[in-house]
Amino acid sequence: MRSAPIDLPADKFREAGHRLIDDVADFLSDIATHPVAPGLSPAETRALLPTGGLPDGGADPATLLREVTELLLSKSTLNGHPRFFGYITSSPAPLGILADLLAAAVNPNVGAWSLSPVATEIERQAIAWIAELVGYPPGCGGLFVSGGNMANIVALIAARAAQLPGNVRARGVTADGQRPVIYASAEAHTWVQKAADMIGLGSDAVHLVKVDDRQVMDLHDLRETITRDRAAGFTPFIVIGTAGTTATGAVDPLGEIAEISRDEKLWFHVDGAYGAPAARVPGAPSELAALEFADSIAVDPHKWLYSPLEAGCVLLRDGRLLPDAFSYHPTYYHFGEIDGEEPVNFYEWGPQNSRGFRALKVWLGMRQVGRDGALRMIADDISLARRLYEATGAHPEIEAVTCSLSIVTLAYVPGDLSARSTEHEVFAYLNELNEALLTAMVDGGEAYLSNAVIDGRYLMRACIVNFRTDAGDVEAIPEIITRIGQSIDKDRRPAKLR
Ligand SMILES: *Cc1c(COP(=O)(O)O)cnc(C)c1O
Repeated sequence: MRSAPIDLPADKFREAGHRLIDDVADFLSDIATHPVAPGLSPAETRALLPTGGLPDGGADPATLLREVTELLLSKSTLNGHPRFFGYITSSPAPLGILADLLAAAVNPNVGAWSLSPVATEIERQAIAWIAELVGYPPGCGGLFVSGGNMANIVALIAARAAQLPGNVRARGVTADGQRPVIYASAEAHTWVQKAADMIGLGSDAVHLVKVDDRQVMDLHDLRETITRDRAAGFTPFIVIGTAGTTATGAVDPLGEIAEISRDEKLWFHVDGAYGAPAARVPGAPSELAALEFADSIAVDPHKWLYSPLEAGCVLLRDGRLLPDAFSYHPTYYHFGEIDGEEPVNFYEWGPQNSRGFRALKVWLGMRQVGRDGALRMIADDISLARRLYEATGAHPEIEAVTCSLSIVTLAYVPGDLSARSTEHEVFAYLNELNEALLTAMVDGGEAYLSNAVIDGRYLMRACIVNFRTDAGDVEAIPEIITRIGQSIDKDRRPAKLR
């Protein structure tokens, strides 16, 4: 019998696996007692790893697994912690953790149906269910990808192939001298620039539309920019609405953008990476109802469907436009009809060739909670954010600035400076103070918030996509902020502002 050093006999696998599951279960049960973040520098973190180069010989797998479990569970930033409110990163669903293990065990290659028969059909069903959840026609097509960026980029590439004149797939986007243009608001996520750059349009092809004081797209500016660009010889082809901006959770006026796109014969894409799952939640912004008019939508199950990373999903009203934009037929693939049906081979639907089974954790999660459970958790996150907004706003030294979907922005403002906060020097100092406060809070491991900048103002920002967070967690925030804020203010305040 061959002895391969990578193999693990079944009894050893079982023993190491049971221990791992026990350790993870213990970790999940007392996660709230861990610091949210380890507060270590890059050098301190590197010092935790083995010294030296690639080892010549191997090591005992059970020992390795135990050591790295201990390392990761004790020295990581924990987005599963009930007080993790940074960026838009959810607590991972426990069933999703197990699903990833199972997916790796079966290891289907979800690039081709015949390499992943059950997995491909599960992915197709998961896509249809996500569409239903967000109120999109279930007859749409879609694809799982790594996250929101890729979901959006795949949609943009499909739009490019469908909208631009000539054979752009063969001749390139600018072959006929055209200058394609993309519209998105100034608050859109930077995937737009990255995508325009990656696909050879260049980031200058992104024409940013102004936002109003609610941080949403100014429709008048959109219309004017399109008209001006057409007159200048550009080729507009897509308008991107954001359903939940990353900074403040603002939702663009999607219904109106859909109408303008229709009138102008432009593709209407919605970046719903964050907010789309809230579309059918009672009380959520009514603009989300217009998701159904989009030509494509990006949704991020690793955000508000609480799936472990990575899981993004792109939906296209007309699913055939994905193979139209991505399909090639290598001679070494022979994936034809099976039983009179042409099966879906996802390698033809997007940029990836071999593909993992991301859909399993998402599909299982949706079955575990159902539509009602999903909507209830999102509604709970939204009301906790509202509660945080009210609890911080009620504190004399905190200004609660915005609250939309489950994102709250706020600033620490020492009482004696609040009346002077628009003075140039005070404004600059408050920015510095809030940035230092945020850094200290994250390093201290009590709670994890991130930041937003609105009109040059540095704000702390909490986003709750966290099924572990409860009222006690959000009500603890004002005390944490003011305690750390007061101590930094005492050390840092310049003499002339005292
Ligand atoms: C998070 C987010 C993205 C990027 O998604 P990733 O999963 O991080 O790639 C894009 N757009 C919006 C609106 C987002 O909130």
